[in-house]
Amino acid sequence: MKAMVLERFGEPLVMRDKETPPLGHGEVLVRVRACGVCGTDLKIWAGQWPTVRPPVIMGHEPAGVVAEVGPGTGDLKPGDRVVASLYITCGQCENCLAGRTTICLSSIRRLGFEVDGGFAEVVRAPASTLVKLPQGMPFTHAAILPDAVATPVHAFQRVRLSPGQTVLIIGMGGLGIHALQVARAQGLSVLACDVDRRRLELAQGLGADAALDPADDDVLQACRDFTGGLGVHAAMDAVGLAETAELGLRCLRMGGRLLQVGYSIGQSVALSSYEVAMRELEIVGVRAASRADLMQAVALVRAGLVRPVVGRTLPLEQANQALSLLRQGAVPGRVVLAVDGETGD
Ligand SMILES: [Zn+2]
Ligand SMILES: [Zn+2]
Repeated sequence: MKAMVLERFGEPLVMRDKETPPLGHGEVLVRVRACGVCGTDLKIWAGQWPTVRPPVIMGHEPAGVVAEVGPGTGDLKPGDRVVASLYITCGQCENCLAGRTTICLSSIRRLGFEVDGGFAEVVRAPASTLVKLPQGMPFTHAAILPDAVATPVHAFQRVRLSPGQTVLIIGMGGLGIHALQVARAQGLSVLACDVDRRRLELAQGLGADAALDPADDDVLQACRDFTGGLGVHAAMDAVGLAETAELGLRCLRMGGRLLQVGYSIGQSVALSSYEVAMRELEIVGVRAASRADLMQAVALVRAGLVRPVVGRTLPLEQANQALSLLRQGAVPGRVVLAVDGETGD
């Protein structure tokens, strides 16, 4: 099978012919039809993830068709259309048993990180990570669900808001533009914030109540104006820079909650202990999504409540171009690799 392999950090991925991996207990071979490309892939490529050891095939958002099943794979069968969720977890620790599989206490492994992933014609995945897809859902859409849609679903599981409440979402990239839609599906008012005009226009088209550019707009004042002077119930930082997290914290009302979804490795946020204590603020970490969150993401798209925004689809062999488009922030929505002539919609 052909695969785009990360052989050395920071160097272009290389197309290689690899052996199709043998199947162990509970494992499935999936013929990849599309795979999402994500900001985390840039961090993996640059060597910022300590657990990743090249050579490895990146790609943690593969969708495709089951080609072969090993023993102990339940009711999965060849021909099933599936998408893979991110985490390979133990299922036994107290966090897994409590449903918090994104923070499994055993060593978490992930396709495209520690285990070969979906920038390939075929991926070997544990059946326990796979979610079946409805007929008619394009693979290019399915391939952005595990992270860009399921992570916002997970975020609003971590912090449950009531219809009519207001959330500020900072960053209208691949994740933020879907977080906006997940929030709208829950009846929330959404103030969208980004530095890119095109992204803000897209956000408005998808139902944002306001589109704020920190270069032109006073974001804090806009949040107060929208909420009768009180500030937003929650802010989601989908960027993960110190300034975006700090902006989110400032815009919260008393008792407000910051959802920290975006992150950068090696950067810290200045926190006023006085503000956190006196305003009883909460800072809630959001680490991607569980398989259950992915199931809900599939259901939201199937119901027409979330429309996957795929800004660009490129063939597998152009994985390096896909990464550089992402690095430049040149594409609104998500970038997807298509395998095997998959064209999407
Ligand atoms: Zn991702
Ligand atoms: Zn566990």
